[in-house]
Amino acid sequence: NRAVILNQRPQGEIQDGDLVLEERPVRELKEGEVLAKVLWLSLDPYMRPRMNDAKGYMEPIGIGEVIVGESVARIVESRSDNLKVGDLVTCYSGWQEYVVFPGDAEMVYRIDQKDNVPLQAYLGVAGMPGRTGYCGLIYVGKPKAGETVVVSAASGPVGTVVGQTAKKEGCRAVGVAGGPEKCRYVVEELGFDACVDYKAGNLEADLKAACPDGIDIYFENVGGAVTRAVAPLLNPGARVPICGFVSAYNAEDMSSVETPFHVLKALDPVPEHRFFLVTEWQDKHQEITNILADRVASGELKYRETIAEGLENAPEAFKGMLKGRNFGKQLVHIAD
Ligand code: NDP
Repeated sequence: NRAVILNQRPQGEIQDGDLVLEERPVRELKEGEVLAKVLWLSLDPYMRPRMNDAKGYMEPIGIGEVIVGESVARIVESRSDNLKVGDLVTCYSGWQEYVVFPGDAEMVYRIDQKDNVPLQAYLGVAGMPGRTGYCGLIYVGKPKAGETVVVSAASGPVGTVVGQTAKKEGCRAVGVAGGPEKCRYVVEELGFDACVDYKAGNLEADLKAACPDGIDIYFENVGGAVTRAVAPLLNPGARVPICGFVSAYNAEDMSSVETPFHVLKALDPVPEHRFFLVTEWQDKHQEITNILADRVASGELKYRETIAEGLENAPEAFKGMLKGRNFGKQLVHIAD
């Protein structure tokens, strides 16, 4: 069993030697436990803050511990009545090839795979990021037909779902993404009304031109310069679901970075709501997964993936994702 462990805490951007591949023996199963073989590993931005020695909404990863992460896995041995050999699940296996957990563990879900929905989509648009985009937009953003919704990191799995859901709700969907290729994809393939390239050097003017009626909902994924450009365009009564702010995740000191809260607090009333999928809507896991998987199956919900091959390539892929080198959901293919 190979595993990627936190060898030392990254200072800023991840460097060689911070995340290390190790051989870790798989222990014997106890009564009630299962052994799962990881097929697909999801790489998600939240993993970076958890490598720091600061308590966020979850505990930091300890030195020598396996990096946290969700995967699609197959049960290959079972001493549990809940899961049988051959079952496919999503579970928080961490970055490793095999994992042992109790058959009734929390956050383990049997995948009810629908036709035309690839397994790995249950880690992307029909998985945690997809549910995040959907719930954050619908329950926090509360979109109304005719409103303008702006979403940053628009070509990623969260942004992809936010924009396409906004269109379905009758809104004008405007993306913000890095580079002309991603922007073209967001408009031409995903069907957004416009997409602003924040790297093109004209962010304020381009965003204003894309939002002639101002912004009613800003779905925050990135923070930094994009938030500063959005703030003056927010309409009275605007909502800002604060999902994340990935531009700050590599900061050496997260406590000193400018967050969206600093930028938005000048507005009265402060139109933001920081949310976490897992603490707010875990009870809707199956319901929302089904909605999104049905939309994938019908071809209505479009998305892209970037796939790294083999666990040994996970650290490099993860570093790249934090800089936008991914185009769509970043996955690691571990086994068939
Ligand atoms: P993505 O696949 O979109 O990957 C992150 C993207 O962020 C990159 O591809 C890049 O896109 C963009 N980015 C990186 N650096 C910057 C920067 N300096 N300025 C602007 N954009 C940048 O990730 P996800 O869709 O998985 O996640 C999106 C957000 O959702 C993250 O903030 C994540 O933490 C958050 N999240 C929150 C959850 C919650 O419960 N609150 C749950 C899941 C995700 P580009 O090339 O376009 O710049």
